[in-house]
Amino acid sequence: MVIKDLRKRFGTLEVLKGISLEARDHDVIAILGSSGSGKSTFLRCINLLETPDDGIVSVKGEVIEMTTKRGLRVPANPRQVERLRQKLAMVFQQFNLWQHMTVLENVIEAPIHVLGMDRKAAIAKAEAMLEKVGVIAKKDGYPLELSGGQQQRVAIARALAMDPDALLFDEPTSALDPELVGEVLKVMHDLAAEGRTMLVVTHEIGFAREVSNKVVFLHQGRVEEEGTPAEVLGNPKSDRCRQFLSSSL
Ligand code: ADP
Ligand code: MG
Repeated sequence: MVIKDLRKRFGTLEVLKGISLEARDHDVIAILGSSGSGKSTFLRCINLLETPDDGIVSVKGEVIEMTTKRGLRVPANPRQVERLRQKLAMVFQQFNLWQHMTVLENVIEAPIHVLGMDRKAAIAKAEAMLEKVGVIAKKDGYPLELSGGQQQRVAIARALAMDPDALLFDEPTSALDPELVGEVLKVMHDLAAEGRTMLVVTHEIGFAREVSNKVVFLHQGRVEEEGTPAEVLGNPKSDRCRQFLSSSL
């Protein structure tokens, strides 16, 4: 995945001021930064939940550029957007499960309706993914009957059921009670160990240190510092990064 000079503004607020990032297969990239630094907007622009004003997103050779149509910035080729979203599965802070559907229905929905999988194959795939994240026993339950940690694991199973090239996580443990954080981090740790390509916005510095192979620190819509976990977390060059790390201990 290659991101080049991504820019996004909301009205007069310039949120992303030209961010570039390269993720190779099997990379686990931790994205850190204080609240409001543009982390969520960055992830949302990568999978085009938001349309960047400028820049290039390229995943597995598919290059997406923006153009102006009727005064609006839009992806030059709208058909690419669906394909891109299939390649990049997102896991949100608030899980975003459909409350009126069972756990299993949540996981088979997109494989059936987006990928066109037949129902039987989608169920087999969903069950395998629910097993993998340890919530298969809850497959016929509804999200609200589950703990936050279980709901987030279902959301991860739902992402995996799409066989994505990369997983994008936006603060996946920030909405959880502290005692439930570990079970979700464990699943993410296992996915990294399997060689999944992952972009993880997180405040879990320990996770970044132990699991990621690259850390990017955003400040006010720019990459302020990037490098290996040892470099960025162990010996930050920028004062802002150092301050951020000392305040997150
Ligand atoms: P982070 O995830 O790092 O906390 P965000 O990407 O959510 O930061 O937000 C960066 C800035 O962009 C914030 O000032 C936020 O208020 C603003 N912002 C985010 N989304 C929108 C939006 N849809 N409309 C207007 N402003 C937004
Ligand atoms: Mg955010």
